[in-house]
Amino acid sequence: MLGLRRHGARRVAYVDIDAHHCDGVEHAFRDDPEVLLVSTHEEGRWPRTGAITEWGAGNVFNLPVPRGFHDDDMARVREGVILPAVAAFRPDAIVMQSGSDGVLEDPQSRLALSNNAHAGVLEGLRPLAPRLMVLGGGGYNPWAVGRCWTRLWGALTRQEVPERLPAEAEAVLRGLRWQRRGGGSWVTPPEEWVTTLADPWRGGGPTEGVAERVEFLAARLRAWA
Ligand SMILES: [Zn+2]
Repeated sequence: MLGLRRHGARRVAYVDIDAHHCDGVEHAFRDDPEVLLVSTHEEGRWPRTGAITEWGAGNVFNLPVPRGFHDDDMARVREGVILPAVAAFRPDAIVMQSGSDGVLEDPQSRLALSNNAHAGVLEGLRPLAPRLMVLGGGGYNPWAVGRCWTRLWGALTRQEVPERLPAEAEAVLRGLRWQRRGGGSWVTPPEEWVTTLADPWRGGGPTEGVAERVEFLAARLRAWA
């Protein structure tokens, strides 16, 4: 963030869809009205910060999300909070922290996203970004991490998502080994983890609490913008 400032970006929007709250970034920039902070994160998960009531200097928008948060929920958050907040802020640069630990296959979070959620947020932010920095973040299932971030790289470089991965990519994914924590079992990946890049869409009816929280932040946005 400070590096972007040194390179001429005064107003920086930081959008974090990692399953954990961006506690350190918020601590550093919550009093800086020229930084916009928008975070979605699983409620109750370490570091247990990021309450929806944390406002900073009016620049902090936290959306704790419940277990089971899925792609349709994220689309609602994207359209109701993330994109309107960033558009109203008129940033010189956007930083997207795209932790992939919110996907269904991740062993830590209890969220149910697919990598379509990450791609959708990135595609939405892109036209709002005079400069765009996309970061990785958390992610504890190596297949899901590799596929998610490769998908984002493909989106950034405007490449088509293939129905089936080329043989070289499949070989990389087949070469991964992952043992569950605490000396647990070695995981045998299902075929779609090694032969595809895009997940199937994981949607459904609104997860309880999401619509109300989106509306709460949208009302704040209308007063702020
Ligand atoms: Zn995380």
